[in-house]
Parts: sequence; structure tokens; C-alpha cells
Amino acid sequence: MNRHARSRTTVYVAGALALLAAATGCTSGGDSGAASAALVPASGSPASGSPATAAPSRSAGPSASASPTGGPAAGDAAAWAKWHLTPLPPAPPAPADKPVKLARTGPVPVFSEVKTSDKVVFVTIDDGAEKDPKFVEMLTDLKVPVSMFLTRDIVKDNYGYFKPLQALGNHIHNHTVDHAQMSKVPPEKQKSEICDAQAALTQQYGTPPLLFRPPYGDGANTPALNTAVQQCGPRAVVLWRESMQIHDMQYQAADKKLRAGDIVLAHFRGPKDLKGETMTQMFGELLARIQEQGFAVARLEDYIEAPAA
Ligand SMILES: [Zn+2]
Repeated sequence: MNRHARSRTTVYVAGALALLAAATGCTSGGDSGAASAALVPASGSPASGSPATAAPSRSAGPSASASPTGGPAAGDAAAWAKWHLTPLPPAPPAPADKPVKLARTGPVPVFSEVKTSDKVVFVTIDDGAEKDPKFVEMLTDLKVPVSMFLTRDIVKDNYGYFKPLQALGNHIHNHTVDHAQMSKVPPEKQKSEICDAQAALTQQYGTPPLLFRPPYGDGANTPALNTAVQQCGPRAVVLWRESMQIHDMQYQAADKKLRAGDIVLAHFRGPKDLKGETMTQMFGELLARIQEQGFAVARLEDYIEAPAA
């Protein structure tokens, strides 16, 4: 296939799990273990930074990357081989009756998984620090759906980076102005953290974020945070069941297994935060862990009914 096409050897060990960092999201957590084979394509030009011309609508309907059957299209086998990955199963069609139905007003729900019997999980990627063109190339090739929770002050130096990812049908959501720990700041500051990010992301990406995720998951279930979210526009608070580190996920479940409908947290991170691994290496490891357990990746917004306008 190419000069990197060699059998990838699984070199990390289960014992490394014991060394995983704390379970909170958005930390520079990492596991130990030797690096695996590079997930670097041998060919292909860097992704263009062209702005999204057709921003996905806020309503959670079929996305730009939907296949004829309604589910996200799986990239072809050659594309997966290029990244030294085994293809994931294709996602089933998006459910007609959405398991999550969001209301236009009132308290917002807080959830970390979606009730479904589909053998799917949902991948979310937070913050936005690492802006690796190779990752745009990877998602363009593989067509794995992701939901991005962006922090304004972390992405404002290059809002454009995320536009090709958005153009693939991926939605952008709210992850505050500057990654504040919400329970440590007063209600008015919580409000500005969410509302100011909402305004900036809406202006940049052409659609108001439907979902909010507090940094570290902190304060998610407090009345102050719920009120602030309601005041700013997002209609749900989204947490997670698994948190991707470098080579494996941290699981909240004791059996360390994915379950149908789990929401997985990852981050836009690069070698500085991944012990030298790249964003595409980390993401390839994430996909491999999902593939090993037989799950497809579905688009979170395909399982959510947005409020009627
Ligand atoms: Zn974060």
C-alpha cells in the first residue's frame, strides 16, 4: 500500500491502564506504554482550509455525510488502509424517532449517553488546541462523525481550521470562553462564559451551538449552570462515559467496555500533550479501540431532536 503499510503491533499493555491519569476531562491525561506504529499517510496533500460553504443546520437532521440509508457513510477500505486501520462497521440509519428530544425552553437535560439499542457510540472532541491539518485529512478520508465542543479563546487564533471539519457534516458546540471551572465562578461569570462563546461560535460557524459541555464536566448538575445554559441558548448539557487518553480510553464502567449509546470524550491534542503522539495517532487508536469492540460511530446529532424553531 505504502511505505508505512506494515502490520501494526499492539504494544501497550493492560497494566498501563493502572497508570491512567485522573478521570476528569480536558486534563493533559496520558497513559504510559510504548508508542505504536505511526498513523501517518504516505501521500495526500494537506487539507485545504476552505471555509464551510454549507454549514450544517442547527436542527439535527440527516447530515452532509449521510449515506443513502441515512447513517454516516463509512469511508472506503482503501481510506482505512491508508491510515493503517480496520474499517469500522457502518452506522445504522439515523433513528426516525430520536431518543433525545430537546425542548425550546425550560431546564436543560444533562446526559452522558443516549438510550439506543443500536450498536453505536458517539465521539466528541473538545477544546480545539491542536489544529493538525492531517486530522482534517483523516476525517475527510474516513468520514467518521464527530461533535466538536470548542472553547472560544482556544480556537480564536484559527477559527478557520474547524470549518472543513464542519463542512463534513460535523456540528460545533459550546465549551465556554476560556475553559473556566464553572462551579468556582459566580453565576454571572458562568453566564458570560457560555453566552460570549455562544455569540462567537454562532458568528464564526453560522449556526448557534445546540449543546454545551462544561470544562471537566464541573458543575454540570448545578442550578446555576443550568440557568446560565438556558440564558445563552444551548438546549442540553452533554457529558461522557469514556475519555480517550493516548492509547486507550478511561471507562467509567467497571468492566471497561463500551455500551450502546455511550458518548466518548477526546480532545484536539498534539505531541506536547500526548507524549509525542500526534492527533491522528491518538484518534487512530481511539477508532481501533471502538472497532475491537464491534461498535460503529454514529453522529450524535442524528439521535437528538432539536427544538422546533
Ligand atoms: Zn475542555
